[in-house]
Amino acid sequence: MREVRVCSLPKVLAMTELPRTERSPRIRKPASFALPPHLADRDAICRTFSWAEARRHLAGLPGGGLNIAAEAVDRYANGARRDHAAIVWLGADGGRLVLTYGDLQRLANRFANALTALGVARGERLFILAPRIPALYVAALGALKAGVVVSPLFSAFGPEPIATRMNLGGGRVLVTTAALYARKVAPVREQIPTLAHVLLADCAAGDELPSAGHDLDALLREASDEFVTVATQPDELALLHFTSGTTGKPKGAMHVHEAVVAHWATGMYALDLHPEDVFWCTADPGWVTGMSYGIIAPLVHGVTMIVDEAEFDPLRWYRILQDERVSVWYTAPTAIRMLMKAGSELARDFRFERLRFIASVGEPLNPQGVWWGLDTFGLPIHDNWWQTETGGIMIANTVAQDIKPGSMGRPLPGIEAFVVQRHQGGVEVIDTPDVEGELALRRGWPSMFRGYLNDEERYRKCFAGDLYLTGDLVKRDAEGYYWFVGRTDDVIKSAGHLIGPFEVESALMEHPAVAEAGVIGKPDPVLGETVKAFVALKSGFEPSEALRRELLGHARKRLGPSVAPKEIDFAPRLPRTRSGKIMRRLLRARELGLPEGDTSTLEADK
Ligand code: ATP
Ligand code: MG
Repeated sequence: MREVRVCSLPKVLAMTELPRTERSPRIRKPASFALPPHLADRDAICRTFSWAEARRHLAGLPGGGLNIAAEAVDRYANGARRDHAAIVWLGADGGRLVLTYGDLQRLANRFANALTALGVARGERLFILAPRIPALYVAALGALKAGVVVSPLFSAFGPEPIATRMNLGGGRVLVTTAALYARKVAPVREQIPTLAHVLLADCAAGDELPSAGHDLDALLREASDEFVTVATQPDELALLHFTSGTTGKPKGAMHVHEAVVAHWATGMYALDLHPEDVFWCTADPGWVTGMSYGIIAPLVHGVTMIVDEAEFDPLRWYRILQDERVSVWYTAPTAIRMLMKAGSELARDFRFERLRFIASVGEPLNPQGVWWGLDTFGLPIHDNWWQTETGGIMIANTVAQDIKPGSMGRPLPGIEAFVVQRHQGGVEVIDTPDVEGELALRRGWPSMFRGYLNDEERYRKCFAGDLYLTGDLVKRDAEGYYWFVGRTDDVIKSAGHLIGPFEVESALMEHPAVAEAGVIGKPDPVLGETVKAFVALKSGFEPSEALRRELLGHARKRLGPSVAPKEIDFAPRLPRTRSGKIMRRLLRARELGLPEGDTSTLEADK
């Protein structure tokens, strides 16, 4: 095991100068920066940016080829950063392993050679079902090098969701562990007729292999270090990602190698990555965030990235941020809510000397979360927005721009966003500020999905002319900041008002007793729908009639009687997807006694 090599950065001065105007509607950008920010002059860069020009910053392959893994690994392994730490892996049991760009290249090459030796061809599909172990990263990058399409699955999925997804994607190879195979794949193996090879990452000597099973370590040991990356074309399929299933049955989004151009640009503009950064994306690679920003973007920038094998644990996370000297941290509202719930006093014994930028994605980030960052780290949390379908960050609060807590920021260079309203014959673009409508993006950014697996019709319906319709409702203010209102499926129509659950949930979250809130519409013969909230309390608070009345009053005062919930139920916790999103459709189904629909991504009760 080697020590990680990272040069030390000048200690961050800038953020301590941020005005501590808590509850202020605006957090001013820092007066100075530890490193020159990438998007300091946002307007000028947005005016001149082009994707063709961005592409020129990548190495590319002969004959106009482009390959995600070549950009992420070979570019640095073949140059001066060969010995720079690419991955610092922290084992759940306390182990620590550092893989340099050179190590990663050797291992990925071996994996690509092993696949080729098994007869796995370019364009065939490889699924990964594994905890965050080094083999996952090696397999993903090695397969991409070989031109094999990668589809990561979250390791907590049960057998049925695994079989469904592998069938939909036509999985030929599965990389997993012996334990996961026995528990989750063996029972449904017959249902996956395309599966030809199972590569097991943690075989013990003498283990009996399943049919068509291989010991991955043995394959890697025997394979050569040299591999010429397949010259995949920019529009060649690279990744299959399943959506989170928050609003319904998960869809399989298809992404191409050209997406790497967007990973590069957004790693720079949205996450402000600089070469000496230590970057930690807490998302699991089973979801698109964990692939786009937990593997590709940091490596494409040649930085050091942290991988933590263990599950969420507040003290462990604070220790990692401190001891690994994380400088840029990308996390999610669900994690922030859990850290808030655990109490920020836990963070007091730690020093986050190198941390200079924090961002969040996945769900709306309540203003409380942004301020909590300021209180706990001296840094606000920068919300950004994107989806599995967009493949990369589209709208963001960035390091050198003012933040308006509760807003997801402004479109990044190369992204044209619109607020539209759907009409029978098409869509109308709404230019007036502060009017609610669906968020639409002009197609043409490189990480845009190129289809839903086996559902061409659904894909087609996502577009109106050259606009991609996201299914999310937003408002844009006069300064161009976007405000999330809710999913089109979650919006509540009550007495002629359109009510976004996020606004109601944020108001409830302002109350000191509330840890999280989920809001739904309940059918009502007079009003159309009424607003009902489910609330989980922070530790130290008990449900009571008095507290319910207090919360109803608090919400009415904040939101007015037509928007405030009419009913509040207490719940120990809210149903959420395994990626941490509140599943309002389940709250609604359970409330109304309706079928629960696809629950494959529902997080198991803990
Ligand atoms: P499904 O499409 O299967 O219902 P999903 O939409 O949750 O699931 P993802 O692609 O993982 O699947 O999530 C993208 C969605 O998450 C966005 O469309 C949006 O609704 C929500 N989201 C992501 N980031 C933000 C954010 N910063 N603010 C508000 N919502 C966000
Ligand atoms: Mg979605």
